[in-house]
Amino acid sequence: MPLRFYNTLTQQLEDFQPLDGKTVRMYTCGPTVYHYVHIGNFRTFSFQDILRRTLAARGFALDHVMNITDVEDKIIRNAMAAGQTINEYTAQYTKAFMDDAAQLRLQRPERFVFATDHIDDMVSAIQGLAQRQHTYLSDGSTYFRIATFPPYGKLSHTNFTGNIAGARVEVDEYDKDDARDFVLWKAQKPGEPGWETPLGSGRPGWHIECSVMAMKYLGETIDIHTGGVDLVFPHHENEIAQAEALTGKPFARFWLHAEHLMVEGQKMSKSLGNFFTLRDILDKGYSPEAIRYLLVSVPYRKQLNFTFDGLKAAATSIDRLRNFQLRLLNERFPAGSNAALDQRTAQALEAFHAGLDEDLNTAGALAAVFEYVRDANTAMDAGQFTSANTPAARSLLAAFDAVFDVLRPTVAEGALSDSGIEALILARTQAKKARDFAKADQIRQDLLDQGIVLEDTKDGVRWKRKS
Ligand code: AMP
Ligand code: ZN
Repeated sequence: MPLRFYNTLTQQLEDFQPLDGKTVRMYTCGPTVYHYVHIGNFRTFSFQDILRRTLAARGFALDHVMNITDVEDKIIRNAMAAGQTINEYTAQYTKAFMDDAAQLRLQRPERFVFATDHIDDMVSAIQGLAQRQHTYLSDGSTYFRIATFPPYGKLSHTNFTGNIAGARVEVDEYDKDDARDFVLWKAQKPGEPGWETPLGSGRPGWHIECSVMAMKYLGETIDIHTGGVDLVFPHHENEIAQAEALTGKPFARFWLHAEHLMVEGQKMSKSLGNFFTLRDILDKGYSPEAIRYLLVSVPYRKQLNFTFDGLKAAATSIDRLRNFQLRLLNERFPAGSNAALDQRTAQALEAFHAGLDEDLNTAGALAAVFEYVRDANTAMDAGQFTSANTPAARSLLAAFDAVFDVLRPTVAEGALSDSGIEALILARTQAKKARDFAKADQIRQDLLDQGIVLEDTKDGVRWKRKS
């Protein structure tokens, strides 16, 4: 089965292969660090984590870049109000974002890149666009004239012909309805921070940072560009215009967009005030794994309605899988073999991967695992699950957890139960088998931090509590 993704650019499911056959060069629009990000944002970032892990499970290497937008209207406004530099102001929210992402077990992209570290690169790109007659100056700011880029609208599939009036938009908060010339370089206003450059004293617009940083690290044509659906227009349309006007080459081969996390029929968003941060939800006693599970359980191109009942159901689903894992670890199964059951396991593994391969159908992949767990539990109850069936069952759980990563309990404050410790030890053993030694070491360290000492013996892992 080929790996297929729905490409917003072609509006079709397409077979995916990285351009060089080995390494997927991928760019993700990261957060604007003017505040804590909310779990709606994390739905998009969690989808990207499932994408990363599915690509890795397929054997591809990853070169994934995520930007941090650390200069923008709201940041400037808030930093000025707080009497801080923009660096001081953004540092706290950048750290909070990284901490929250780690709690949700989002793999770190290969590179995080900051807009304010790339001002010179952006200035050069804008100069290149000026040389090619794609820009004009007005009141000291430089704008991209979208009428000079005829394919404008190809990503959002909107025909703007005759509708490009040349009206300008100079703020970072963009209107989603009409196409307007967008700002590349904003002239400095009194009291605002600015950089002295050949374009004048000022700062870059939001769109140029992504085109420039994507191409700097990943090349002129990248494999995958991702973000939430609200970025299709105008942000990604503008990224394409800037990049392709500059290079004459296709900017990104695949565009993948995640649908929104909703609350009672509306997009979760800062401006509507209907949002929860990760911290809000952890404070209510839910685990990061339950939130992660909820965010990824619905395929990314479907809207997902956030409810606390949904979160409770996610926690119950994880428990069911952990209980199965504990049975595998603790129960003594009869000797002998049951070839039919091994076949059943192989079929579940295939269905699991087939689900993910089909445009990351996480619901299908999860169904394959849960149906298997139900059948395997029934076989265990009937005494038909043999010790020879355990390796395949463990491999299935390991394959599942390599992508979903919810079986290992987050080490909470306070004492761990024996079964919690055993689940962690099992997760460590599986990580070692999967040659994920970093994860295995992390689990050992987490346990040690909780006063649990592991000893690897020839009969398996023993553990004791430090007195
Ligand atoms: P921002 O910091 O606003 O640029 O958002 C960061 C990412 O979160 C972008 O990819 C957005 O498209 C995405 N996003 C914002 N709100 C939601 C939501 N309610 N559900 C899913 N993704 C979202
Ligand atoms: Zn972007």
